[in-house]
Order: sequence, then structure tokens, then C-alpha cells
Amino acid sequence: INMADLPRTVLISGCSSGIGLELAVQLARDSRQRYQVVATMRDLGKKGTLEAAAGEALGQTLTVAQLDVCSDESVAQCLSCIQGGEVDVLVNNAGVGLVGPLEGLSLAAMQKVFDTNFFGAVRLVRAVLPGMKRRRQGHIVVVSSVMGLQGVVFNDVYAASKFALEGFFESLAIQLLQFNIFISLVEPGPVGTAFEEKLLEQVSTAQFPGADPDTLRYFRDLYLPASRELFRCLGQSPQDVAQAIVKVIGSTRPPLRRQTNARYCALTALKAVDPSGRLYVRSAHRLLFRWPRLLGRGLRCLACDCFPTRVRPG
Ligand code: NAD
Repeated sequence: INMADLPRTVLISGCSSGIGLELAVQLARDSRQRYQVVATMRDLGKKGTLEAAAGEALGQTLTVAQLDVCSDESVAQCLSCIQGGEVDVLVNNAGVGLVGPLEGLSLAAMQKVFDTNFFGAVRLVRAVLPGMKRRRQGHIVVVSSVMGLQGVVFNDVYAASKFALEGFFESLAIQLLQFNIFISLVEPGPVGTAFEEKLLEQVSTAQFPGADPDTLRYFRDLYLPASRELFRCLGQSPQDVAQAIVKVIGSTRPPLRRQTNARYCALTALKAVDPSGRLYVRSAHRLLFRWPRLLGRGLRCLACDCFPTRVRPG
């Protein structure tokens, strides 16, 4: 048999919900059956939704396995159960968010974000890399964020964890080209998943002890409404993001970076066009603190179809 015709084993982290779940299902249902999907999650008690969505693919092109990206033992155990032990495509999707005034967040909460988003991905990569290097082939996909490209107010630590991924994987990409292994950082804008709901629910009840009244007021009265508006106007579905990732996985020369949301590109462009950083930081500041009403109008304008979305990323 031609090696290229064998299905590729794809391991995905964080498949109990959101983008990971959608991606697992779309790959498992590939019309050309190019993939054998190992859909992993920390808590197998939550596998019901995925199994229902997978339908007939379950047990055929999709298997569910336990994997906590924060545990060495869990990673070793999961990989030892994969037939042949080889992963052709690794998708680092598991992630957690954190928003709020810095002074009101514990260091432990910040470290958990890095443990999951950054070290979780590093742990998995270290585990699959020796096999990929030996076989001189592989593809590592990382679900980053537009917040891996530019900071967003009150998302300091989350953005930092995504910047860490961007720096780590861009560096690694150079070495790995020599081994015919590709890296792809996928950068979604806002996505309507449980992720955002969980986060907003948490912060609407959180007290943030330690934060001063002005900062708290900016967070609650300016940031939270603006954030809701952003998700409402520019939010993508997890299906759309998964579809973009399927394309990246199926491409013969995968890109290092791929933004998934054409409408958000107007905002990432603010940083891209001015390397000094002034344009992006000042625009973001003005929109939130000086002209919040303009921000709402601008977002609605971006969401409306009169905006030239012909300029699509990737
Ligand atoms: P989600 O909350 O539905 O999915 C995240 C998944 O990661 C969950 O299933 C969660 O259980 C899992 N997870 C958390 N800690 C884990 C651990 N230690 N081990 C294994 N799994 C763990 O939200 P989502 O939007 O689908 O998020 C997926 C990825 O997309 C994340 O990396 C997130 O940062 C990124 N992202 C999300 C958005 C957004 O707006 N929702 C935007 C850009 C990027």
C-alpha cells in the first residue's frame, strides 16, 4: 500500500465541547476517510455530546480517550493506547480563559492558565515529537487566538499564554522544517462556545477583591458590555473555526499562521501596519474609554454586509 493513502492518526485535546468537539466530528466524517481521530478529553463523563455528534463514525474513524494535558501520566497513558503509538497530526486545542482586573486575580489562577494553555501543549508536543522526527513527517496544529497576536484589555494573562504559544511554536517551526514536520497556529477571533459563556458567568459574579473602584468600574461598565457586543457582532461558530482547521490539516503546504475570522482582520491590521504598536494600543484605548458608543457602532458596521469581506485571510 502507498503510505500516503493510509489514514492519518489525528490526536485532539479538549474534545468534550466547542471547537475540539466540532473538529473531531468533521475530521471523522471526512468523505475520503483520510483520518483516524483520537478525540480526547480530561473527563470521560462528558463524552455523551461528542459521541452523539459523531454518530456512525464512533468506533470507526473516531475513538474517545482520556487525556488531561496537565498530567504527564495521563499523556503517557493515552499515547500508549494508540495503535502503533504514532500520531501523525497533533491538535493542541484544550484551553482555559481568564478575564478581569489583574489586582483581583490570584497568581494560582494565572498559573493554571499557563499550565493548561502553554505547558499543556508543550507536554503533548514533547511526547509525540520523537516519533514524528523518526518518521520524518508530522503536523502540529495549535489553537491559538487573535490574542496571541495582540493584547486585549483585561485579558492580560490569557493573551500572554497565547503569545507564549506563538513564540514557542514559531521557534520550533524552524527546526522542524528540517524533519518535514509542519507547525500551524490557528488564530480565531471571538467564537460562540461554552468558553465565553463560562467566562462571562464567572466574572459577572466575581468580586475581584484587591481591585480599585475605578478599575472595577471600567471592567464592569465598559469592558463587559463591549465584549458582549464583540461576540454578538463578530462571533464565529465553532463549526466555522473547525472547518478552517480541517482545511489547514488537509493542505499539502500548511501555513504557519491562519486567522479564521475575516471580520476581525480590521482589528489585527491595526497592529500589523504600525510596528511601533502605538496605533493599535491608542485605537483600542480610545474605542473603549473615550468613544464606547462609536465602538458599538463600528462593530455593528463590521458585522454588516456592506463591509468588504472579500479580503479573506489565508
Ligand atoms: P471550550 O471551553 O468549549 O473548549 C475548551 C476545552 O478544553 C474544554 O472541553 C475543556 O474541558 C478542555 N480543557 C480544559 N483544561 C483541560 C485539561 N487540563 N486537559 C484537557 N482538556 C482541558 O472552548 P473553545 O472555544 O472550544 O476553546 C478551544 C480553544 O480555542 C482554546 O484553546 C481557546 O483558548 C481557543 N479560542 C477560543 C476562542 C473563543 O472565543 N471561544 C477564541 C480564540 C481561541
